[in-house]
Amino acid sequence: MTLTGARERRVRTGGVELCVAELGDPEQPTVVLVHGYPDSKEVWSEVAGRLAGRFHVVSYDVRGHGRSTAPEPLRGGFTLEKLTDDFLAVVDTVSPDRPVHLVGHDWGSVQSWEFVTVKRTEGRIASFTSMSGPSLDHFGHWIKQRVSRPTPRRVGQLLGQGAKSWYVYLLHTPVLPELAWRGPLGRRWPGILRRMEKVPGDDYPTPSLPADAAHGAWLYRDNIRSRLRHPRADARAHAPVQLITPVEDVFLSPRLYDDLERWAPGAIRRTLPAGHWIPRTRPDQLADWITEFVTSVEDERPVPVASGRHADRFGGQLVLVTGAGSGIGRAAACAFGEAGARVVAVDRDTESAVRTAELARLSGARRAWAETADVSDERSMEKLAERVGEAYGVVDVLVNNAGIGLSGSFFATTTDDWREVLDVNLWGVIHGCRLFGRLMAERGQGGHIVNIASAAAYQPSKALPAYSTSKAAVLMLSECLRAELAGQGIGVSAVCPGFVHTNITSTARFVGVDAAEEQRRRGRATRWYGLRGYPPEKVAAAILRAVVRDQAVVHITPEARGARLLSRFAPGALRAIARLDPPL
Ligand code: NAP
Repeated sequence: MTLTGARERRVRTGGVELCVAELGDPEQPTVVLVHGYPDSKEVWSEVAGRLAGRFHVVSYDVRGHGRSTAPEPLRGGFTLEKLTDDFLAVVDTVSPDRPVHLVGHDWGSVQSWEFVTVKRTEGRIASFTSMSGPSLDHFGHWIKQRVSRPTPRRVGQLLGQGAKSWYVYLLHTPVLPELAWRGPLGRRWPGILRRMEKVPGDDYPTPSLPADAAHGAWLYRDNIRSRLRHPRADARAHAPVQLITPVEDVFLSPRLYDDLERWAPGAIRRTLPAGHWIPRTRPDQLADWITEFVTSVEDERPVPVASGRHADRFGGQLVLVTGAGSGIGRAAACAFGEAGARVVAVDRDTESAVRTAELARLSGARRAWAETADVSDERSMEKLAERVGEAYGVVDVLVNNAGIGLSGSFFATTTDDWREVLDVNLWGVIHGCRLFGRLMAERGQGGHIVNIASAAAYQPSKALPAYSTSKAAVLMLSECLRAELAGQGIGVSAVCPGFVHTNITSTARFVGVDAAEEQRRRGRATRWYGLRGYPPEKVAAAILRAVVRDQAVVHITPEARGARLLSRFAPGALRAIARLDPPL
């Protein structure tokens, strides 16, 4: 998607001519997208295309950028006051009778903070979505507070942000930045963005980049020093604010927004595990959040924000859980739902997947869908990956949970039994990692894979040769994949529960015995697991924690942790236990 299909017009203001692009129906609420540095309005192409179905979307090249003309002289031509004049000239043209919804990224956000906190724009802005660009006034107060009342933590914060701001000092040097941008840096920038920020596509940045970057250096020179030294005391927002913070932003510390409540009471906060250039790397997510925020403000109803544990980490994320129709999978789908994720509940049984999707919605999921697939069937999983990719996007968190139980001695276990267990418990995980993990890696924006193994992965038992082998393989696969994906920001966790009270005991097969004995063993196992009483919800909570903390292996339940300790420090004892007849 590009802005090529947009209607363009020129707006004259303060000695410059701005190039303004419009998409969508002008009768709908107007969303104004303001780009950052070094950028042009095309940074918004992907987001604008997604918003245009519902809104009147407007984006303009900031003075001196893209196809807008530059002020003469450059010095003093980029002050926040002049940028506010430009903004008002644009909105007076595109939406003279109705306040607009403002969205800014990077310097687009820095200047939008000015627009939304000065008197003369009151009544012209309906809402503001800020990403990766703080108010210079708020930043100035943030620095002053830390300098005047230093504590080790505050000094650490100052130094941390100071280190991230290295480029700001460079941009204050005369001439050099212009020479660099019009020379080698300008030529290399598209490659740098692709490599460092994983920005996809060849249509961005536009050829105007070297000139944009050279002119835009004045954004810094005209404003930073003066505002940071003398920040305005009354820089409070006069419209509702939504703050989107990409937590892997190499230029800005999330700590900068610690005092946000003071300047924008009731601001909605979202975080995204992504780098700085989110308009190009996470357009789906941004379009979704902007739509939700703008629609809520227009309809005068509260923004639906999840308040569950880890909501700041998983809000809006796409989470896919296999085997979600029951037990641990269902509990995990609901826990991610409670944290505000968008949940895809997959099971081979459609009805139970649909029920889980309903429960996830009731728990707080922003959206939840049911999908039917057999994880052991490669074709079925390929079709699932295609459907999910087209309908919902790239999965942020994948939970390979589907599994079946099988108990019986090695010689009682037929080759078909082996195949069945390995097909579901191991191949199911392989298919999931291969298909969804590859899409995650190609997107280049990180993600997380959770594979549900078991304490049986390291606790041998003469009664569970096939099941334990499948789970040991899942554990090793997870470790290998974790090593392989580490450089791509994708975490892999293996979760190893002990005895958890779910349906697995009533569906597990007991081989080598007749049907009546199998039924009896199922009944005993179910009673025993029931007495043990460890709920799947606790496993679900551990799964979310594993993602938040990026844990390699998680042992859940005391018996799983005990077995792990024995396997490391007294493997002989564990081998002796393996020879005992199971109590079932
Ligand atoms: P559960 O209640 O039986 O849930 C497993 C779900 O996976 C069921 O809805 C099941 O559907 C589904 N499933 C099975 N095969 C599938 C396939 N080929 N494709 C798609 N879905 C499939 O069991 P659970 O205890 O929650 O088990 C979840 C995971 O935890 C498993 O990997 C299990 O090995 C592991 N685990 C469980 C325990 C425990 O004590 N419960 C301990 C350690 C590890 P059907 O009902 O139609 O079969």
